[in-house]
Amino acid sequence: MPSFVEKTLNEIWSNTLKKISANELFETPVFDAYIKMTRLHDIDDEFATIVVPFNISKVLLNDKIELIQEYLSEQIGHSVSCHICSTKEIEMIQPTHIAKRRTDLVFEDKINKDYNFENFIVGKNNREAHVAALSCCRYPGEFNNPLFIFGNSGLGKTHLLHAIGNYIKENNPEKKVLYIYSEDFVTLLIEAMKNKTVEDVKERIASVDFLLIDDIQRLKQSTSQEIFFGLYNSLIAKRKQIVITSDMHPTELKGIENRLISRFSSGLSVSVGSPEFETAKAILLKKLEGRKEEMQIDDDVLDYLATRFNSDVRKLEGTLNELFFKAILYNPERIDLAFAKEIFKENPIVAAASSESLNVHRIKQCVCEYYGLKISNIESKTRTKNIANARHIAIYLCRKHLEIPFAKIGLEFGNRDHSTIMSSYEKMTKLLKEKEDFRQAVQQIEQTLGIS
Ligand code: ADP
Ligand code: MG
Repeated sequence: MPSFVEKTLNEIWSNTLKKISANELFETPVFDAYIKMTRLHDIDDEFATIVVPFNISKVLLNDKIELIQEYLSEQIGHSVSCHICSTKEIEMIQPTHIAKRRTDLVFEDKINKDYNFENFIVGKNNREAHVAALSCCRYPGEFNNPLFIFGNSGLGKTHLLHAIGNYIKENNPEKKVLYIYSEDFVTLLIEAMKNKTVEDVKERIASVDFLLIDDIQRLKQSTSQEIFFGLYNSLIAKRKQIVITSDMHPTELKGIENRLISRFSSGLSVSVGSPEFETAKAILLKKLEGRKEEMQIDDDVLDYLATRFNSDVRKLEGTLNELFFKAILYNPERIDLAFAKEIFKENPIVAAASSESLNVHRIKQCVCEYYGLKISNIESKTRTKNIANARHIAIYLCRKHLEIPFAKIGLEFGNRDHSTIMSSYEKMTKLLKEKEDFRQAVQQIEQTLGIS
């Protein structure tokens, strides 16, 4: 007989699963094969542990973690964060560890062995970030402190942080490396405040040689920022290396104190962008290593994926996983282009990628048609008036309608830096107020794009 607590946990999870299924977070065969048999192991205040049988279940759940946390919180009646563990991992946690795990989880070794420099594919989109990450490993605390890596989601920032962690563990095992996800840092501090152990936590963090802070944009809570500020200053003063990732350039971070932003800008900021076709294909080939025995996959399938999904490496990888997964279900002889096209026919990612939805390329195309230029002209460094005007307009439209960070736009326009793009945008905003011919040009281009 399950105990009352277990029964309640089972009920809570079964209701959550019902909602996951009703809202179609996963396709039915995926849900049946990988999600249905997961279970809720424990709830401890605002922290829930979910146990999964397969690694792929973990990947799938993590992919939709925000919604799952929302559904689960509804069931419990207060907000919880989820920690997803494999059956093996949960067996390793002794009951005494469970009691104090929130603190320990932050300090336990969170560096993922799967993400290293060897399996990080370097391309134009991430060359600077890659070199900067390596140089932090070789000359810690000396040149690029802090190193600030920013860019859209799914482009390898977390991979690089772990790669730094793994490099140090292998080459300088005497050094202490701490990887912290920013939200975990907030949770940890809130907990420490309750338990009056803040000083202890601060001491532990201040004693590391490398602090790797992931997704700093999530460090929203003001007391945590205050504490982080103190730790940051003391680590930098001791020439300990800090590496930070974010989805924005430091100056575009919202909800983070100015004094922190100015500190972040004092080291080196480098961006990661979307990989070009060759890099995307090389990433696919890397991810395929060791999976070839599962099923043969044709080369033109990789071309197909690398062309369509290169804006987000996580999705690119996801499509590969989906193909292999569907291949297990439908059992074709090999994964060929026809099979891949069939699988992705109804996939919303493909639909969005292939439809006429607005994107940087379409904006560039339309602006260039209007000015009678080639796309390569506005990506080039040429400053001829006509070309520069077209470039300013394209940049202006990208920012206005796609709301992407200046740094990302910079990558799309011949690797220009964030401040050049920002001043181009500001210049065009001003010109539009002053000059009728610019207003007309923008209006007409917007009309052609169907966004006026
Ligand atoms: P981010 O932190 O920028 O959102 P991640 O580092 O989590 O992105 O990357 C998402 C996935 O894409 C990971 O599985 C990562 O290994 C993979 N990835 C991203 N860029 C590369 C790359 N250049 N080479 C190999 N894998 C990559
Ligand atoms: Mg990340």
